[in-house]
Amino acid sequence: MLYLDYAATTPVRPEVQEEMTHYFAAQFENPHSPHEAGIRVKAAVEEARELVGRVIGASPRQVVFTSGGTEANNLAIIGGARARRKKGNHLVTTPIEHKSVLGPMAALTKEGFRVDFFPLDPTGLLEQERWQESLTPQTTLVSVGHANNEIGTVQPVADLAPVLRKKGILFHCDCIQTFGKIWVKVEDVGADLISVSGHKLYGPKGVGFLYVGPGVRIEPLMYGGGQERGLRPGTLNVPAIMGLAKAVELAGQEYKRELLRLLVLRNELVNRALLIPGVYLNGHPGQRLPNHVNLGIEGIEGQVIVSEMGKRGIAISTGAACSSGSREPSHVLTALGQKIGEATQGFRITLGSATTLQDIFTFVSNLSAVVKDLSERFLLQI
Ligand SMILES: *Cc1c(COP(=O)(O)O)cnc(C)c1O
Repeated sequence: MLYLDYAATTPVRPEVQEEMTHYFAAQFENPHSPHEAGIRVKAAVEEARELVGRVIGASPRQVVFTSGGTEANNLAIIGGARARRKKGNHLVTTPIEHKSVLGPMAALTKEGFRVDFFPLDPTGLLEQERWQESLTPQTTLVSVGHANNEIGTVQPVADLAPVLRKKGILFHCDCIQTFGKIWVKVEDVGADLISVSGHKLYGPKGVGFLYVGPGVRIEPLMYGGGQERGLRPGTLNVPAIMGLAKAVELAGQEYKRELLRLLVLRNELVNRALLIPGVYLNGHPGQRLPNHVNLGIEGIEGQVIVSEMGKRGIAISTGAACSSGSREPSHVLTALGQKIGEATQGFRITLGSATTLQDIFTFVSNLSAVVKDLSERFLLQI
């Protein structure tokens, strides 16, 4: 099988797996136990936290381990909004965010919060001239994803941070698709709260972290043993945390080289695919993730392309893994003004560590054959 769905998840690196294995059995003890063995596990976790802090340019106490990206987003948005309830009840995000951002926003409206959406252009970028008009004196928190997981457009988040800071508005950024791909230092993003997920960066699933900037107060979503400064109680998932830290360390060392390699492959894919009749690119042509392509083909549902390519042993997807399979038009493409028919045409190809130039050629020649097949079948029908 040719795997081209790295935005959905990535394989665990051997170094990460090795690190994790040790903490499943050899050092299995509870890091919160008072005995020697427990204290040693606790020290290992704190070293992992320091390592993550060093890579992202933050102090260890600003790193809060969570059960993944979804929890980090929920904790940042719900915890951040509730902690500022007395200051205001207005939140702003974009209509193309991941469901783990839109979900908590919708839930907060039931607690009396108001949610507005920044205006976007058809490529998914914030409207430079107009986005600030969505802010009000009641706005306490803004959540804008660094890169969209479905169309790959990268938002100029570093431009938002100083404006929001000056207005005293908390800035959360879902960086799950960008961390370890186009940045590793928090100062490059500038947000107060940053979400990262392990399984999008060759680490394990079910673990992630929330960066909580200096002086930022958020409320926990759960109550219990007071772990993670009380922000995320529960016995720590030690093997996953150790694996995550290893993945973060390796991403920090390698991402710049890998970014350049992937850019070449991605451009090759886009240029060749656009030569196939009817094929167009969704999202921004330049300001997009280095490993990310979203295409559409006039008159063909994305779901059909995904399934035809699947029969040829090539794994791609229509969009977010959680909502693909449903034939609903993409909430991202509809929010960008595409009509229902057009919005069902999108499909996503995402590259990663094992992708080679040969894979790009294989993908494009198969896509070309599928499109030819489908058009011939269609012509026979009429
Ligand atoms: C994958 C993803 C998430 C969810 O992260 P999990 O660790 O799978 O819960 C959130 N936001 C974006 C942009 C993602 O790509």
